[in-house]
Amino acid sequence: MRRQGWRMVATLGALSLVAAACGSVDPTIAGAGPRGVPTTLPPPTTTTTLDPSLTATEGYFEIPVGGADLYNVANGTVVQTIAQGLTLGFISRSGEWLEVLTPCGTTAFMTDSQVTPVAKTTARATSDLSRLVLVVDPGHGGRDWGGVGPTGTSEKSVNMEISLRLKELLETPHNIDFVTGEITPGSEYSRVKSVLLTRSPDGPDGGDYELGLAYRAGLANTAGAHALIAIHNNTVPTQAASRPGSEVFYAASVPDSDRLAGLIYDELVKSLAPFDAQWSGGQLLGARARIDPKSGDDYYGLLRRAEMPAVIVEGAYLSEPEEEALLKTGDFQQAYADGVYRGIVRFFTTPDTSTSIFQPEPFPDDSGTVSSRSCKVPTQSGGAP
Ligand SMILES: [Zn+2]
Repeated sequence: MRRQGWRMVATLGALSLVAAACGSVDPTIAGAGPRGVPTTLPPPTTTTTLDPSLTATEGYFEIPVGGADLYNVANGTVVQTIAQGLTLGFISRSGEWLEVLTPCGTTAFMTDSQVTPVAKTTARATSDLSRLVLVVDPGHGGRDWGGVGPTGTSEKSVNMEISLRLKELLETPHNIDFVTGEITPGSEYSRVKSVLLTRSPDGPDGGDYELGLAYRAGLANTAGAHALIAIHNNTVPTQAASRPGSEVFYAASVPDSDRLAGLIYDELVKSLAPFDAQWSGGQLLGARARIDPKSGDDYYGLLRRAEMPAVIVEGAYLSEPEEEALLKTGDFQQAYADGVYRGIVRFFTTPDTSTSIFQPEPFPDDSGTVSSRSCKVPTQSGGAP
């Protein structure tokens, strides 16, 4: 049993469904099973060459310039040429054949001659940042805009800007003053080994494409990532707040996820509070978890599938005019990224925890965890249809 002995907070059961859709929409209903492993495999049309002894092999790779051919089965037929710049996880290999997890959460096959596979990290989480593999997940993309601000700002684009700033911070050595929050060039905290983006500007349409939650969590799982950080922004607050209304959701069944969320929350609010705004927020500001009362699992599909400390950061309310205006500025995006970065560094390099962590709360699973939208694997332009 991985589930911890946490206590349901029954009095919170009547909470409204505010922000229910953010981070929960999943276009991958066909094949999205627990832990990022599809339950609906491609039909066994032919005998595959997979060697059962190799099925534990996992890792990831980037689709190179020109795209790469995706097959229905090993030694099968090409179903499409997948777009360059995508990073895919693979869940098994046999000889040259890799069984990969597509952006829609289904499985397909590729040959390793087309790509450079990187093996799943086996290093344990450590305070040595230079050994860490992190996955940063810019929420939404493509037809899935996420929230929309009063002047039309899309959450998917703001999430991407913040995620790119976070990746840059993680890939650069720094000194950090945790009292003032100041981050400067220096050697105190090394760069991490690698940062994988689920949605990347190197991919099609400058990174504006749709991805399923099984893919997002599956990439982190197959890479052996030490943390999964999803970047989002909120909509529909319930009340005015005296400070930024940030929320950070944690994977309730993964030990230490709550500590990661709490530290990110504390550092994020430290970064955002100096900005001048009429803040808005929900009833609980801090690190939280939502549980589907029927299944007892995490309400959020991303967190439910993650095998490592995982969080969904909801930094500010895009639906509020003043916060939308801030979210469009580079200064605010950088402050958001700075806060998340400091929280991640504190998580790995200190035993610190936070007083802003709430117990998991029941949250009825009746609002959009399953989408009827179809997901399309991005095709290389000029490639096979
Ligand atoms: Zn969102």
